[in-house]
Amino acid sequence: MKIRLGLLYGGKSAEHKVSMQTALAVIKALDASKFDIHPIYINEEGQWIKGPQLEGPVDSVKQLEFGANEGAIEATGFNSIVAQDSSEGFDVVFPLLHGPNGEDGTVQGLLELLNIPYVGNGVLASSAGMDKVIMKNIFAQAGLTQVGYSSYLRSEYTGNEEAVCDEVEKEIGYPCFVKPANLGSSVGISKADNREELLAAFAEAFQFDRKVIIEEGVKAREVELGVIGNDHPEVSVAGEIIPKKDFYDYKAKYEDGDTALVIPAELTEEEYANLKEMAVKAYKALDCSGLVRADFFLTGDGKAYINEVNTMPGFTPFSMFPLLWKHTGVDYPELIEKLIQLALDRHAEKQ
Ligand code: ATP
Ligand code: MG
Ligand code: MG
Ligand code: MG
Repeated sequence: MKIRLGLLYGGKSAEHKVSMQTALAVIKALDASKFDIHPIYINEEGQWIKGPQLEGPVDSVKQLEFGANEGAIEATGFNSIVAQDSSEGFDVVFPLLHGPNGEDGTVQGLLELLNIPYVGNGVLASSAGMDKVIMKNIFAQAGLTQVGYSSYLRSEYTGNEEAVCDEVEKEIGYPCFVKPANLGSSVGISKADNREELLAAFAEAFQFDRKVIIEEGVKAREVELGVIGNDHPEVSVAGEIIPKKDFYDYKAKYEDGDTALVIPAELTEEEYANLKEMAVKAYKALDCSGLVRADFFLTGDGKAYINEVNTMPGFTPFSMFPLLWKHTGVDYPELIEKLIQLALDRHAEKQ
């Protein structure tokens, strides 16, 4: 019997478009003889949409590029869609969503309440991993090496701009990176080299979140590892990003497409072993399951800093995470099936 797979994509976050690209790729890769795919599109207003035009996945894949077309598509609340479909019986849901309202534990919580197995991290790891400040606090507790950081709420910053900048200059210094605490894909991130840029960076980041993190900027190689598994995580080979620009910003990630990915990264055995150990430590510290992509900085003196883990990393066939697994011997369709199996295993373990 085919596995009934609910595929959630789109979403209310700034990473909506990235999720659409991913959904297309996943649907094309899934073996239609094994999976009965039910695409559910979440538009930018947060409406959950399904309908004949989103179904018949392989033939109507084109529709996904545009998300919801007028006409044949029903727009309803998530409760009617998921509740209705779950009573018919989704075997598993794949939330292919990035950023807030998708990667952050909210959708995971809904699926928990509905008792439906789902791909990727659970509620706790998803929400802790989405908030860069909470994530770094947990990493610090686990003894992982990181760059210095501090954080401010919009309400602490507004009306206090110069005093906050004085504090950042004293505690963090330049260059620093200013980021919305809860986002991904480099959205809202800027590098600041002076007071003027710092003020602009705060203003930019606060457009996306009420909480902002400021980090010491390091001059370093950027190396990433994939991790999959539940209680016994496996780690992929390492990959290196060679940004053509100052840093790996949104445009470099999704629009220019000319950032070089070097897989496997040129590392000594010791360097790789150390990163691998750090990746597993981070995975366990956040109680991850399913998958993460762990991002590191490697400085000239050979020191490794963990930057973050991404609990639903970019997942097109040309994204780092699937490429890392391809080079480790797990191709794209197999990777998707493995993740679905891990979702089913975790669900069975809970009962
Ligand atoms: P994603 O989830 O897509 O990986 P993100 O939005 O979570 O991205 P980060 O990975 O934290 O953002 O940062 C994006 C990029 O900015 C990094 O890949 C790196 O190029 C640069 N960067 C971020 N923080 C620092 C830092 N502290 N020092 C130097 N470069 C940094
Ligand atoms: Mg991230
Ligand atoms: Mg991300
Ligand atoms: Mg990153």
